[in-house]
Amino acid sequence: MENKKFKIIKKKEILKLLESLKKEYSIFVPIEDNGDARFSEFKSGQDIFWDYRNTKISPKEILFPQAETLFCFGPGAEVKAEGSTPGGKDYLIFGIRPCDAQAISLLDKVFGGEDFEDPYYLERRKKTTVISLACSKPQIDCFCTSLKGKPENEEGADIILFDLGEDVLAGAVTKKGEKFIEKQNKWFKDAGQSDVDKKDKLMDLSLNKIKSQIDIQNIKEKLDNAFNDLLWNEIHQKCLGCGICTYFCPTCHCFDITDEINPKAADSKTPEGKRVRCWDSCMYPLFTLHASGHNPRPTYKERMRQRIMHKFNYCPENFKEIFCVGCGRCIRNCPVNLDLREVLVSLMSLGSLCKDKKI
Ligand code: SF4
Ligand code: SF4
Repeated sequence: MENKKFKIIKKKEILKLLESLKKEYSIFVPIEDNGDARFSEFKSGQDIFWDYRNTKISPKEILFPQAETLFCFGPGAEVKAEGSTPGGKDYLIFGIRPCDAQAISLLDKVFGGEDFEDPYYLERRKKTTVISLACSKPQIDCFCTSLKGKPENEEGADIILFDLGEDVLAGAVTKKGEKFIEKQNKWFKDAGQSDVDKKDKLMDLSLNKIKSQIDIQNIKEKLDNAFNDLLWNEIHQKCLGCGICTYFCPTCHCFDITDEINPKAADSKTPEGKRVRCWDSCMYPLFTLHASGHNPRPTYKERMRQRIMHKFNYCPENFKEIFCVGCGRCIRNCPVNLDLREVLVSLMSLGSLCKDKKI
């Protein structure tokens, strides 16, 4: 990024800037919540949690809500998509960490890909400006640099911010970001070289804090022949099937769709209700249960294999991307300390003969 792209803004001015944008945007910011951090809609007088590590629940829920009504049905019900942004406002996601912004760029490929377009996600996404906050607080289980990440990764962001203490350095990443800064020009000044030097030093420090390094070069090819490897018999042993790893993961995107019938009209010939989409998890036994009673993934083993293969083999095949950004959430929050990094190291040790091994 060239220096001329950088602008500087006083941190205390940012709250005023956000306040001034509330009519135009639904704004989401990181806040402190019971000793944790999470994204929440910005309210007047509310402070931003600048110094947060990362949120427990990933901000993917802003664009891909845990539950949403797709449409209503019944006599007189207007069948229309309800997935648009509340109040018709645009979205401003402010202060998201770079790994989570990168995860949005991966979700874009799923919900806005060449084969399938999800109008609910895309409606929100096209109205969204993503302002990321470069990472100065990597955690012990972060391993973004083993993938495509780094503390100042710009992928998925329109603007990237750097917390310099009293000041915040801002760099436009996309045209949308440039236009945003131009429009809000009165809040910003041109940054000086000393600001940029401070940012570089901060990022070097941050990079040095990421100690987990895993060589996953060619993992897709390693897994091409690993479906029947004996290793899967071991990898899943500790798993409880709670699904936390998938719910907290910023790139997991499986969902279920159900019709919820209004109980008062349940006996009517033309029942009324709504079709609802909610997050689901490949770690649950019902996820692949067929109506016939057959389940192609009947045990923890098949389900764990699916989770790993999906991220590191099927998505690279379908989207040319590994669907893990190394945020470490699945490691931090797994109740039995099942560590994805250890799983990856085991898988990387697979020999080329794995296709010959049988379960
Ligand atoms: S969080 Fe851990 S125990 Fe729960 S499903 Fe994931 S790997 Fe299994
Ligand atoms: S698989 Fe784990 S480390 Fe990778 S993006 Fe998902 S939660 Fe983060």
